[in-house]
Amino acid sequence: MEFPNQPYFTILEIARDNNEEKIIGVFSDLNGVANGYAYLFTESRKIIKGKISDLKLSDKKAVFVSAEEQTSTLLAAGQQCMYFDGYLGERVAIIFDTSRNWRKILFEPSESTRINKDGSVKVVKGGWDHEHCVIDQKNISLHENPFGYKDQFGTWVCVDCYNNYVLTKKFGFIKSG
Ligand SMILES: [Zn+2]
Repeated sequence: MEFPNQPYFTILEIARDNNEEKIIGVFSDLNGVANGYAYLFTESRKIIKGKISDLKLSDKKAVFVSAEEQTSTLLAAGQQCMYFDGYLGERVAIIFDTSRNWRKILFEPSESTRINKDGSVKVVKGGWDHEHCVIDQKNISLHENPFGYKDQFGTWVCVDCYNNYVLTKKFGFIKSG
């Protein structure tokens, strides 16, 4: 598997207080790292959503608190996880989520509604004429990419992203540097 040039978070210690599990670790570098929502990709290829706090620029240490249950079996001191910010991590999570049922379908325009200046509502036939691929934002429409993959949550990915990333579980959509 090709890995992107993302910072690594090495777990130093897992501290538990008041039922909260604080994953204390140190980053390999701070490129793109900030306090806030983040994802860790574990050595066992699981992606965990959570929050980075107490980031110290001097020694690159920080605290990660998982927003998901049952992560203690996935994380342990000494492990190296790949760090993703909220935006990238959300996309990695979609790619690695095996509970999603992707179906290839033809995009069909549907009605949209428009609110006029006088407050009345106008129905525009075929007004909803495109979707965006969640990974690279490419338009999925009758004119550009008529086929796409849609999951049970209504998430769309274009055919290229499905074949290149969802199917293969690859990180190629992340531009390094
Ligand atoms: Zn795409």
